[in-house]
Amino acid sequence: MAKVLILGGGFGGVVAAERLAALLSDEHQITLVSRSRNFVFYPALVRLAFGKCGKDYVRFDLRHTMLSRRINFVEAEVAHVDPFEQKVSIAHGQVEGKLPYDYLIFALGRRLATEKISGFYEHAHHLLNVDKAIQFGKAVAEFEAGRVVLGQCPGARLPVPVYESAFALAGLLENKGKRDGARITVVTPGTLEAELGDAAAAAALKRSFDDRGIELRTNFGIASLTKDSARTKTGETIDFDLLMLVPPFRGSSAATYMGVTNDEGYVHVNVNMRVMGQERIYAVGDCVDFVGPKMGHMAVRQGEVAATNLAAQIEGRKPESVYSHEMRFVIDEVGTGNGLYLHKDIWGNDPAAVKHGRFWNWAKHIQQKYWEARHS
Ligand SMILES: Cc1cc2nc3c(=O)[nH]c(=O)nc-3n(C[C@H](O)[C@H](O)[C@H](O)COP(=O)(O)OP(=O)(O)OC[C@H]3O[C@@H](n4cnc5c(N)ncnc54)[C@H](O)[C@@H]3O)c2cc1C
Repeated sequence: MAKVLILGGGFGGVVAAERLAALLSDEHQITLVSRSRNFVFYPALVRLAFGKCGKDYVRFDLRHTMLSRRINFVEAEVAHVDPFEQKVSIAHGQVEGKLPYDYLIFALGRRLATEKISGFYEHAHHLLNVDKAIQFGKAVAEFEAGRVVLGQCPGARLPVPVYESAFALAGLLENKGKRDGARITVVTPGTLEAELGDAAAAAALKRSFDDRGIELRTNFGIASLTKDSARTKTGETIDFDLLMLVPPFRGSSAATYMGVTNDEGYVHVNVNMRVMGQERIYAVGDCVDFVGPKMGHMAVRQGEVAATNLAAQIEGRKPESVYSHEMRFVIDEVGTGNGLYLHKDIWGNDPAAVKHGRFWNWAKHIQQKYWEARHS
């Protein structure tokens, strides 16, 4: 009998747990540990902020879903992993002390590094949890006129909610007859080409911005904030009346003791999603050190690959499932009914596939409904 611990109840951890439960016989024990029993469907938080869906649409109780698939659920805060003792230290929660494992899947996502941007908590809105999304939505509803700045900080690696917020805001203000009094600027620490990994995709997005009168300011790496101005390290500034930023991130601190992380705390893995130099540990999702943006669909695919390989390892077979690093997303141009679809193989040299139209917006909502139906 093998004891498998999965750390993290996000896209990566949940999919890995479900896949393992489907692949392994009942004699093996699967336990998922996460700090909260609530699963949050992050891709819907922009819609929540703009009043296009309710709280219940973006959150569900993980415990019930896991138990129905014979996966034990433990609500607890992970402190760190000790790969030598094969134990996970729990800081607090439903259990205390150390949890032993035979095999581990590390899926704790990443943590905020807001200390890198002075004034972030005081002066910026963000969209990283349900309450903050609702708070940003209230500020948007009260906004009458002036300049709105929406952007990513250096190290955020999460452009989609920024683009979607810009489209949603433009649509909202047009509907209220207040678009003329508002200037919307998207700021990015690099370029659209770098964010999307493709010139044609960047041009398509830029066209959509232009059509909606959304300005773009590139190579603007925000380093500090005051109540009405953002400043870069080199002293450039941009003033705002309303600000929403995706903050910088780092890898989870729980991985630090494993000695398997890069300078930013992201975990080194191979294409089988096994942690480098660790026979019994896999890592999936935002916590791994792959290049490019950090996205939910990547975490899902990595969770599937890790679970397939771990099941093979437990049953004495060779782990053969390989992850290929693809970026695939739909930017919901909230309010227009349109969506911009992009697909790019990040490790390959082929150009991205870019499509635009109503179908892609619809497809994004169907994807969420499918996820919801499977897990709630
Ligand atoms: C506003 C927003 C919009 C987005 N839009 C899109 C989109 O349109 N398309 C897309 O593909 N992706 C999108 N993403 C990105 C996507 O949500 C992430 O890539 C995805 O959530 C990563 O999954 P994960 O399982 O690796 O990590 P997470 O979802 O972060 O899950 C980590 C889990 O570990 C738990 N945890 C963390 N630390 C501890 C600890 N110490 N102890 C116990 N538990 C812990 C957390 O509570 C959480 O349950 C968006 C993200 C945001 C914030």
